[in-house]
Amino acid sequence: MEYRRLAEAFYRIESTTKRIAMTDYLSDLIRQTPPDLIGKVVYLIQGKLYPDFVGIEIGMAEKLAVRSVSIATELSIEEISEDLGRTGDIGDTAFQELQKAAPEVREPLLVSDVYSMLDTIAKTAGPGSVEAKVNMLAELLKRATPLEAKYIARTVTRKLRLGVADMTILDALAIVYGGGRQSRPIIERAYNITSDLGMVAEGLAEGGLEAVKKFHVTVGKPIRPMLAERLKTPEEIMARTGGECVAEYKYDGERVQIHKRGSEVTLFSRRIENITKQYPDVVELAKATIRADTAIIEAEIVALDPETGENRPFQELMRRRRKYGIEEMAKEFPALIFYFDCVYADGRDLTELSFPERRKILGQIVTTTDRARFVEFSIVDSVNALEEFFEQAVQQGTEGVICKAVGPESIYQAGSRGWLWIKYKREYRSEMADTVDLVVVGAYYGRGRRAGVYGSLLMAIYLPESDTFRTITRLGAGFTDKDLAELPKMLEEYRIESRHPRVETKERPDVWFVPGLVLEVIGAEITLSPLHTAGLNMFRSGSGLAIRFPRFTSRYRFDKAPEDATTEQEIIDMYTSRIRKVAS
Ligand code: ATP
Repeated sequence: MEYRRLAEAFYRIESTTKRIAMTDYLSDLIRQTPPDLIGKVVYLIQGKLYPDFVGIEIGMAEKLAVRSVSIATELSIEEISEDLGRTGDIGDTAFQELQKAAPEVREPLLVSDVYSMLDTIAKTAGPGSVEAKVNMLAELLKRATPLEAKYIARTVTRKLRLGVADMTILDALAIVYGGGRQSRPIIERAYNITSDLGMVAEGLAEGGLEAVKKFHVTVGKPIRPMLAERLKTPEEIMARTGGECVAEYKYDGERVQIHKRGSEVTLFSRRIENITKQYPDVVELAKATIRADTAIIEAEIVALDPETGENRPFQELMRRRRKYGIEEMAKEFPALIFYFDCVYADGRDLTELSFPERRKILGQIVTTTDRARFVEFSIVDSVNALEEFFEQAVQQGTEGVICKAVGPESIYQAGSRGWLWIKYKREYRSEMADTVDLVVVGAYYGRGRRAGVYGSLLMAIYLPESDTFRTITRLGAGFTDKDLAELPKMLEEYRIESRHPRVETKERPDVWFVPGLVLEVIGAEITLSPLHTAGLNMFRSGSGLAIRFPRFTSRYRFDKAPEDATTEQEIIDMYTSRIRKVAS
């Protein structure tokens, strides 16, 4: 298969503002792809070579790609840099500069060539590797058409930005291999328990739906986490859980999925990244306390203050997410593990067992120590008991509790936010119940004291049904001077020329972004507003919902993907329960 086909499909996907068209172009591309290449093509669509959890990234610096374009076009580095200054995009620069060069008759570039060259670039390390990477990329660009060069240059610098969500790829796979969208749940399940879209696509291409039905949980392949719904009163929670549940502390830490095989331990984040290197102390604790030979265990890790013995807040733990100085950070912010679930043990997939059964097995395969414990929990069967336990949890400095169903239906639902787990947080008692996680989709330039930085950010919620983002507020408060100075740099990698097709808004910000960065926000209340598209026409024709007086809580949710942001339904629920409260 020629890479040209991929480049043309990317061009079409990028040029459309309609999500349906995006799915169509994607389906066409998948249909044209031979089965033995489908896995690779799916990763390339995502701008990757492997699923994230493998941890092999292309990530060549833009500066180096400039050198490769210069070699390929025989133009000076200065000329290329100057052009890049104008376009702001290495793909566009590669496209333009290659187009200027006299067209040659070239051997067509194959997908397999591009993939294997990018793979070699990604894996080349050590002394002399920089030169080698620059030259390899230059060779590849020399063989490429301008359009191909555009997407190769973007892929290699991790700026492909097609904005195709995993769910859109699942839709396209269902259409091409599953006989239509109705097969999506089967395909989605396979994805939820493997987190590997390429592998799911390969399975489908080779053996159809039957093959992916046989997928099961495996050590080394992270599963997509089960998530909690939210309710605001203990009464509602007890009614939902049928009068009995297990309430657990909701620790303010980072979720980890611990995979153990023999003496090998791997850690995955909530976003399914491999974070093993960041937490060497957690790896050691897990090795010392998990007795099963093979296991997948879920836990919350929390930063400990070694002087006071108290838990520290989430932001401090996030400081351990870095590339350098890991050992020093581990000393300064040692981690505590709180085990809470187990989905695989000694060769057995436990996802279909009830929560009490899984907890029993967890109890059998883990030995606890001071630094590795089970979450605090209580079996509650009344509103009073739940309130009491919640007070205790809050006093201990946690965010609140998570109430978990205990009946036979309480299986582990990978990748889904459902009512089997319900969170009840301390903020729910303030005016606007909960904090929300919003995605930055645009920005407005600042004036006066904020000249030169962004004055406010355009924030959006997520709609899983259409895989789009709708705006809900302009966020300008809660930022420190340091935040304001850093935000433009942080957002640079998401910057695009015009509105992203997945963003639905009436606003016209000065700068647009690919939905990427997630911020935690608290507001005074949710009101009807003609300015925003969240919940548009749900409550009043022409009006949507807006968050009034939003403030950034200082939490950058790097642990969340844009698709993990607060959903439109959650906002609608928050709004309607407030109206109910006011009415009663
Ligand atoms: P939030 O933004 O409120 O942390 P979330 O979207 O990350 O929520 P939810 O499933 O809604 O995820 O809430 C559960 C989260 O709470 C988990 O992802 C996990 O990080 C954390 N957590 C803390 N303690 C527990 C526990 N005992 N059981 C499950 N999750 C827990």
